[in-house]
Amino acid sequence: MTKILDEVLSANAKYAGNFGDKGNLPLPPSRHFAILTCMDARLDPAKYAGLAEGDAHVIRNAGGRASDDAIRSLVISYNLLGTREWFVIHHTDCGMLLFTNDDMRSLLTSSLKTATLEQSGWRDSGAGPGSTEGSYINWLTFTDNAKSVVEDVMRFDTTHWFPTTFRSTATSTT
Ligand SMILES: [Zn+2]
Repeated sequence: MTKILDEVLSANAKYAGNFGDKGNLPLPPSRHFAILTCMDARLDPAKYAGLAEGDAHVIRNAGGRASDDAIRSLVISYNLLGTREWFVIHHTDCGMLLFTNDDMRSLLTSSLKTATLEQSGWRDSGAGPGSTEGSYINWLTFTDNAKSVVEDVMRFDTTHWFPTTFRSTATSTT
């Protein structure tokens, strides 16, 4: 067992032991809202948005982007579990500001090992083989997170998955 796995299992056993009556919480979020936000390890949505277990859905990915899979989760959140308000929350100093689609594709084509960020930019380890598969993925990078958060809210309007009255209440925060 790795040290990290041991730590996670230990923390979970303690958490589960104190879960108490929260095991009886209903499946739909009691506060009827969802947050789409970045996976950044420094962000804790429960803390920054004041959430407790059972309150809200939190969908996370790199950048908090309205990707197809984020939309999939939000459609389920709305259609099956009754959320009525969403927040798209991007943040300052986001890692998605540090590379472009071309950077990612170039790094992956060269090597699948973890790259390092240096003064001159991203540098791969040079240990191949790489893969061209990254060229078929839109990595959804951005250069201005004030614009990207608006783009992602606007995507809800263009998907046509949601009623017009609901779409107009979509909210963005940076
Ligand atoms: Zn981020």
